[in-house]
Amino acid sequence: PMPEFVNLIRSESDFLHSFQYSPVAGLPELRTKFINHFEKTRGVKVNLEKHGCIVSNGGKHAISNIFACLLEEGDEAVFMAPYWVSYPEMVSLYGAKSVVVETGSFDVFVPSLDNVRESITAKTKIIVINSPNNPSGTHYSEEWMKGFAEILKDFPELYVISDEIYYELYYYDPKPTYFYQFDESLLERTIIVDGISKTLAATGLRIGFTIAPTELFKAINKLQGQTASGANSLVQRALCHFNFDNITTFLIPIKKHLRDNAEILGESFRKYNLSHLWYQPKSAFYYLIDFSSAPIKEKYSHLDDASVEICEELLEEHGIALVPGAAFGCPNTARISLVSEKEVFAEAADILLRYMSNS
Ligand code: PLP
Repeated sequence: PMPEFVNLIRSESDFLHSFQYSPVAGLPELRTKFINHFEKTRGVKVNLEKHGCIVSNGGKHAISNIFACLLEEGDEAVFMAPYWVSYPEMVSLYGAKSVVVETGSFDVFVPSLDNVRESITAKTKIIVINSPNNPSGTHYSEEWMKGFAEILKDFPELYVISDEIYYELYYYDPKPTYFYQFDESLLERTIIVDGISKTLAATGLRIGFTIAPTELFKAINKLQGQTASGANSLVQRALCHFNFDNITTFLIPIKKHLRDNAEILGESFRKYNLSHLWYQPKSAFYYLIDFSSAPIKEKYSHLDDASVEICEELLEEHGIALVPGAAFGCPNTARISLVSEKEVFAEAADILLRYMSNS
């Protein structure tokens, strides 16, 4: 389905008023709407004396701005595997070091809180969490978030980026929760990243936003003003007319589609007697398949990580396109997208699981 705000771009007055630069931080009306929507959906209050909201050219630009403003040579940024591919690239671009907390399929790709705590050093400037997660397709539990909040209390100098770009895309209860919901004082050093790319199926319209503590907000505003300027004014204006409450309705068929494809995938695991390798995805668009103890891995037993070789074989000999887990810091895994049309997806899932089981 097409989100209705696309039609709003067609109104004449929007056209007439949308060919000029927008303010660097974005249209004030839209920034207020983003904050209000964030407060309503997460159930917290943003203190506008201590925070600012800035609109950027997508979530990626938002995250890049944050790293650019916060990181210096010698700093460390902690994030959890599987991680979004761009985090380590951006961290190294700004001269800092990535510290990765490992996970595995046995933990459904949820990092142990002890490991998170141990990864923090005197050099750690920032921790990034991404829940719901690309590429695992799950979100961290309430217990995990409460434990994470406790860790943060012990390290009061740390900033946290909460990359919530998939927040509304959960198709199994319970819905995603966040550490700051259990202690709102943590919002004071939390940087929220969200946008319309995933929620409104609008990846190409390039609108993301950051809610950040005031000092950081000012720094990002300065940086963005000299590097990219304000985001696309036409799309911003259309979004000013969009009722964000309609996101829930817009997502109903999309969530059903994701749930159905997840179900199809689970059935294929059962059909090929690989249920012990299955976990239930709950959110975002993805599933991270684990080859490490599947029969197919025996063929590649000489390799520590066969994710690239397996994906190449799947593509060239079976016509299945997956993203190798090496890119997400998870060897011997691959990311499956759950968005394909149901019939095509069912056929692909069958081919994939047959291949994986060596049958
Ligand atoms: N964060 C995560 C975890 C993502 O998966 C993506 C997009 O793939 C982004 C941020 C960036 O989103 P955008 O397309 O708005 O730049």
